[in-house]
Amino acid sequence: MSLAQGSFNMNDRVGAIAASLQDLEKPTTCPVCMVMIGGYIQMCFLEGDDSLVEVLRTKQHAFWDACVAMLTVPRDPDAVLALRAHLAETARNCWNQKEHRTVERNNPWGSNDPLFVFIEGLCYSLRACLEGGDHSLVERLKPDKVFRSKGSQWPDGRKSLFPFGEKTCVESLVYWCSLRFSDEPMKLLRILIMISRPTMLPHLHVEPVHGAIVYIMAQMFHNDLRAVPDGWIGPSPFPPSALMANPLPRWNITRKAVKTAAHFLTVLDNGPDMQFNDNVPFNEGYEIVLFRAVQKAARFISTDHEHFTALAAKVTELYKANGHDDLLNVDPNIVKFLRENFRTKKPTLVNSTVTYLRRLAQARRCTGPGCGRAVHESGENKPFPRCAQCKMTRYCSRECQKADWKQAKPHPHRVICPLVCRLMATINIWDEFPILRDAFLRAGFTNVERNTLAAWAMCAMSPEMAEHLTDIFRRMNSDRIDVAGLPPHEQEEVLEFAMCMRDGIL
Ligand SMILES: [Zn+2]
Ligand SMILES: [Zn+2]
Ligand SMILES: [Zn+2]
Repeated sequence: MSLAQGSFNMNDRVGAIAASLQDLEKPTTCPVCMVMIGGYIQMCFLEGDDSLVEVLRTKQHAFWDACVAMLTVPRDPDAVLALRAHLAETARNCWNQKEHRTVERNNPWGSNDPLFVFIEGLCYSLRACLEGGDHSLVERLKPDKVFRSKGSQWPDGRKSLFPFGEKTCVESLVYWCSLRFSDEPMKLLRILIMISRPTMLPHLHVEPVHGAIVYIMAQMFHNDLRAVPDGWIGPSPFPPSALMANPLPRWNITRKAVKTAAHFLTVLDNGPDMQFNDNVPFNEGYEIVLFRAVQKAARFISTDHEHFTALAAKVTELYKANGHDDLLNVDPNIVKFLRENFRTKKPTLVNSTVTYLRRLAQARRCTGPGCGRAVHESGENKPFPRCAQCKMTRYCSRECQKADWKQAKPHPHRVICPLVCRLMATINIWDEFPILRDAFLRAGFTNVERNTLAAWAMCAMSPEMAEHLTDIFRRMNSDRIDVAGLPPHEQEEVLEFAMCMRDGIL
């Protein structure tokens, strides 16, 4: 039977499961059958057969509603224990014991705990629904846009994804993560953050959720779910619960977990576009733990993997956050990577300007001087409006816009805006660098104008640079540019940039 033929029967079967999931405390669904169905839906999507998940997204809203509700309804530890006992009984009484034995024989998880397989099955299904097929929610994400429903496909709005609100959703999924039976709950949480980052992230910054997710991530980075992560201070963030007496079997961790955690951290930091740091203070209070964990993780991932780039960037960021100014304690592999990466990305005028414009194009933060409010702090699930003229900078309020226009130091927007407008008329910022260089020339800037644009971009990307800029300008025509006040790893960058300005190197 082909997967496509199977999908017709699956549609009926999923309909029956939807009905059996209605009672959130005592679902009549068999957990083993649930993981079979979930595994099948996910397998179809992983093997590139989109038809099943598309059919189910259109026809089985009740099923997806029930999966989300089951996973995210608030439950206290006693309720979780009761659910587990109830699921064990449902599995025992299931008519389908023959298939159960097949699942148990081929079981890749090393556990048949009914609670574990049930949650796993729900996560499999939902993840396939949100990620799989054409027009999946994840595929339709634009870094700049708010999550919207599409036609008849589930989810048809925020309420479908977060029936108990985002806060409860975050807390429930972090709880399932904390049981550490697999990395599925973390993958699902990552997707939900991608879909609705502005409304999800604030709840991840609140203790004890914040500490819990850092702890789990750090354990995954160390590739060890049993040890307390290196540098962790204070007690474990997981209070003893009744589940401890008879805990779920700990997941047999593999290096795949390091990648799951790296992907999760990247989405936390950079949003769905994964392009740049949105300065969400996720590290706060946990810099040392994360610094050590991320370094450890980099040893498990090959240097040409996309997650390695993200981890190396994270190490540098945390290194600065920890107040260090050299790379002495950084893993040699990362130092080597940073040096090589650095050499290929010289801070020339075009590079700096375009890098910053690309960031702005994707940024959701207010660019008002000293503001930096993130969109999620606005209480509205939408990005702040952009400058009406250049359409690049964003402002949370009239005050921020006015302040940037008039007073921003050293580059008020009234000076920058017309330059950006002129440049944007000749340029597509996503083009390759040789093309960009030509476009820069076509804009016909004077040397001073070019330098101003590039300096504005450099200052915005590096606050230390902003402090030194006046001095750099003053000494630009001498060979002695004073960079003594800068951290050593930035001195070289500043010097090269100042040379570009002086010699007009694009
Ligand atoms: Zn069953
Ligand atoms: Zn403007
Ligand atoms: Zn602002």
